Amino acid sequence: MNKKFKLLFVVASVTIIVSGLRLAGKWQSGDDYPAIRFCGGASEVGGSCYLVETGETSFLVDCGAFGSLGNDIIPSHPEDISFVLLTHAHSDHCGRLPELYAAGFRGKVFCTPPTAAIVPIMLRMSRSFKQKKVPEKDYNRALAGLESINFGREKRLKDISFKFRRAEHLLGAAFIEISIAQQEDTMKIVFSGDLGSGNLVLLPPLQECRKADFVVMESTYGGVAREYDSDIPIERHREFAQAVGKALEQGGDVLIPAFTLGRTQAVIAVIDWYIDKGIIPSGTIVYADSPTAVKITGIYRDYPGELSGWANEFYAGDILRHPALRETGSSSSVGVHGRIHRPSIFISSSGDLQHASSPRHLMKMFDNGKNLLCIVGWQPPGSLGRRLVEGEETVLVRYRDKGKNRKDWISPLIQVRKFHSFSGHADQNALLSWLKNIEGVKKVFLVHGEVDQAKVLAEKIDAQFGIDAVIPRLGERVALSEN
Ligand SMILES: [Zn+2]
Repeated sequence: MNKKFKLLFVVASVTIIVSGLRLAGKWQSGDDYPAIRFCGGASEVGGSCYLVETGETSFLVDCGAFGSLGNDIIPSHPEDISFVLLTHAHSDHCGRLPELYAAGFRGKVFCTPPTAAIVPIMLRMSRSFKQKKVPEKDYNRALAGLESINFGREKRLKDISFKFRRAEHLLGAAFIEISIAQQEDTMKIVFSGDLGSGNLVLLPPLQECRKADFVVMESTYGGVAREYDSDIPIERHREFAQAVGKALEQGGDVLIPAFTLGRTQAVIAVIDWYIDKGIIPSGTIVYADSPTAVKITGIYRDYPGELSGWANEFYAGDILRHPALRETGSSSSVGVHGRIHRPSIFISSSGDLQHASSPRHLMKMFDNGKNLLCIVGWQPPGSLGRRLVEGEETVLVRYRDKGKNRKDWISPLIQVRKFHSFSGHADQNALLSWLKNIEGVKKVFLVHGEVDQAKVLAEKIDAQFGIDAVIPRLGERVALSEN
């Protein structure tokens, strides 16, 4: 497709989506309440955003950014939305908040205390990516609108009450149990947000949900059933630690590109533990190489009560502090790279090697077969990380060096290994076992997943529990009372 057609295609798609959302406006829907309108995260991973309308109150659950397209798509009449409930601080769940305020929303955004601490960092970061399209005042409104509610505490607002429960996906991440008071009865809806997988050593386990009429559930890995060697989170990382230890012992350095929020902290914790266990050589230096990651690690330290028993016991009151760890801004760690004569691990941003310090570290390491690149997260198609995992013989690396944009074709000799053990998402088995404990479910809406993943999960839910599981379309409005 040439450029002109591409542009036309994008404009046409946005117009169709926007008009779809506007058509679904509540003034056309009669009185079929309560209802959920799927304003994002429908048949796709990005942009989680669900409008719940009870007839008396309208509120959003999440207001996340899409991958690249459509961040300006906002539910119609945002001034009529009373509040937002935020499951967690990943930008695909909170990234459209400034746009929502810019469009006229003036309510509060309720979330857990760690989420309220992390969201400002994520919004600032996304603002610089979005080239300041949203006015500063709307960013400030979004930050001022955050109000934290502790896990397990019930909050009532008109006909709604809600409670955050632990989702084990990220520091502060919650699933939300919502009760809607009706004339005779109470309807319960549960929004899963993103659910954890039993891999994340720093976080307490996923809590059970006991009762719900409707479940809006993520399906990112709904089609994937993983085999794990152990039920103990730290044990699941032994293979990773052994690979890192072996590379370092053989004189190589290790590069671990990792997202700054959550993944970096999980990697640090696993490495610290396995250094103490002797699997990774003592004397290893671990560089955490991103100013944003350093800020977020600070927030993990501020909330020891929100971390796992394992984390509190291992770090004995001094969370994520270890003699091996050096927290640096990106330039200083790239500067020391190759000049230190101790086994070194570089945890760099970004996670897919496209930006920030990751490509610069790669340029210092790619030509030595003793060095090891550990991939610990999902790699988008076409990204440098994905090309390296797929073993392409020559790859183009774009990076900044001494203030200049550079690009070089390289033939990587570095060893590349991929590890699933850091996944922050529940696989099919974990999703099904969480759902199994919920009594009274009439219908499940599968969101936050590619359609092929969601379809496999829908069939499993129907076969195992006899519950109707549907995959909503973007912009679709579903009345719950009919079900
Ligand atoms: Zn998430």
